[in-house]
Amino acid sequence: MDFDLSQEQTLLQDMVRRFVTEQCPRGFVRELEKSGAFPQAMWKRLSELGLLGLPIPEDHGGSAGSMLDMVIVIEELARAALALAIPFINTVGLSSKVLCSLGSDKQKNELLPRVLSGDMLTSFAWTEASGGTDVLSMKTRAEKSIDGLHYRVNGSKMFITQAHVADYIYTMVRTDTKVAKKTEGLSCLMIPADLQGISIRTIEKTGQRSTGFCEVVFNDVEVPLESLLGDEGQAWKQLVPLLNGERTCFAAVCLGIAEAAFKDAVNYMEQRTAFGKTINHFQALQHYVAEMKILIDGSRLLVYKAAWLESQGKPDALIVTEAFHSAATMVSRVTDLGMQIMGAYGYTTEFDMERYWRDGRVFRLSPISSEMAKNFIAQSMGMPRSY
Ligand SMILES: Cc1cc2nc3c(=O)[nH]c(=O)nc-3n(C[C@H](O)[C@H](O)[C@H](O)COP(=O)(O)OP(=O)(O)OC[C@H]3O[C@@H](n4cnc5c(N)ncnc54)[C@H](O)[C@@H]3O)c2cc1C
Repeated sequence: MDFDLSQEQTLLQDMVRRFVTEQCPRGFVRELEKSGAFPQAMWKRLSELGLLGLPIPEDHGGSAGSMLDMVIVIEELARAALALAIPFINTVGLSSKVLCSLGSDKQKNELLPRVLSGDMLTSFAWTEASGGTDVLSMKTRAEKSIDGLHYRVNGSKMFITQAHVADYIYTMVRTDTKVAKKTEGLSCLMIPADLQGISIRTIEKTGQRSTGFCEVVFNDVEVPLESLLGDEGQAWKQLVPLLNGERTCFAAVCLGIAEAAFKDAVNYMEQRTAFGKTINHFQALQHYVAEMKILIDGSRLLVYKAAWLESQGKPDALIVTEAFHSAATMVSRVTDLGMQIMGAYGYTTEFDMERYWRDGRVFRLSPISSEMAKNFIAQSMGMPRSY
């Protein structure tokens, strides 16, 4: 067993850490949260650093990095700016991976250069208003037009991250309703977000405000047939294994947020005084810090293991889900303790702790809720399906 990062991975980590420290100061990040604007100039810098091609094969101009490389980068980005970390997952981690695995040569040759140059953003649309957990109840329909040139898409998707700034929305649709199982008859369409008949409404949310999420309505949208990714009707079988890594990537975000909260809490304890001494003298608060440290380090072991397994070509959905669930509960607890340490100041918007607290909370709901993660873990151990 070797717990060390390779020399290349340490250099990668240092590079991204230096980049966010120099380019994403707190004031800038707070402004992004207020405006909700996408930091296009910073995104271009990520392209210049070669990061937007990290998981893309070398013959398409990328650097063929591993899932562990992805986790290292995402953790560092998330320490400073979710406005970079979240689109990095969606556009670079998920969409590019799906495109590289399932896309035709034409699709890859057309779209991957735009990802690499920082000129394309993508969203992933599965959830519908009727329920994200029961995702197979989705109803958005794509029917072939009579002239056979288009799919006609009708329906709507809910809570779609950054659909309002995306160039393409990778959308799960039903292309066949007469199926024996709900997992059949689903297809993935790469839908250009500016097609006629698409309307996108941003929805205000509690945390992660620098990356808006949206309702996307498709009203008789004519989508070219060549937008189909993979085989028609086979999207569930083809995409789900590819998207396991999504949970690992979001677990890395949890690590980044928790690290930032930990650092701020420790710094604060060194400055703040009560009863004539700095509050880092109080044992109760020292125990909070110790708990934060144990939780972060323990969670990182699971997340890195999940990433390492995938990097070795042995992805393990159980470990991935354990890692994500651990990271999601960890970040909630760590940011809560951070707020406790900072007292009332931690609850004000003058410090970043309340933002970490809001930003981390969402991972107990998405991309998989804590309840569904535990359902999956129990079933993986052989227990009967409870729903
Ligand atoms: C910030 C954010 C970003 C998101 N981005 C995207 C995106 O880009 N693309 C996308 O497609 N979706 C996205 N989502 C949607 C997300 O995946 C769903 O919110 C999530 O799957 C949960 O679905 P729901 O909110 O409809 O909850 P519901 O399905 O309504 O569930 C409500 C509660 O019931 C529980 N529950 C439901 N069924 C069971 C069961 N069988 N056993 C035990 N408990 C159960 C759930 O765990 C939850 O606690 C995003 C959500 C958030 C919050």
